[in-house]
Amino acid sequence: MTTQIHHVDHELVQAAAHVARTRCRGDNHTMAAAGRAQGGRIVTAVNAYHFTGGPCAELVLIGAAAAQGVYELDTIVAVGDRDRGVVPPCGRCRQVLLDYFPALKVIVGEGDRVRTVLITDLLPESYVWADHQLDAE
Ligand SMILES: [Zn+2]
Repeated sequence: MTTQIHHVDHELVQAAAHVARTRCRGDNHTMAAAGRAQGGRIVTAVNAYHFTGGPCAELVLIGAAAAQGVYELDTIVAVGDRDRGVVPPCGRCRQVLLDYFPALKVIVGEGDRVRTVLITDLLPESYVWADHQLDAE
């Protein structure tokens, strides 16, 4: 594993925390995510819980970003409601984020121990979907 030390985008954490604090409501919306576009812009989203497998905030964020014309994300972070702080992405989101943004940085950790890691470090020995398509070169 080639873990590198990246600076922590505290403004991005604050953006997610603000959405978690002000927009999460009840059992349907309990997580917020914020993504930093490569151009510097911040996009935010909340999860859409449903027992059939409603998407996590990170996945809603991918669509919300595209709806705003943002197709490349540099960094992402998720923050829980009720002051739960930074929450790492679940296994499904790690796979999706890796396939969409192979160079993505993810902010993880708690309190004053938040740190920035590469998505590839969160999913070692990764299955890369694009590598296994019949038309892959
Ligand atoms: Zn997830």
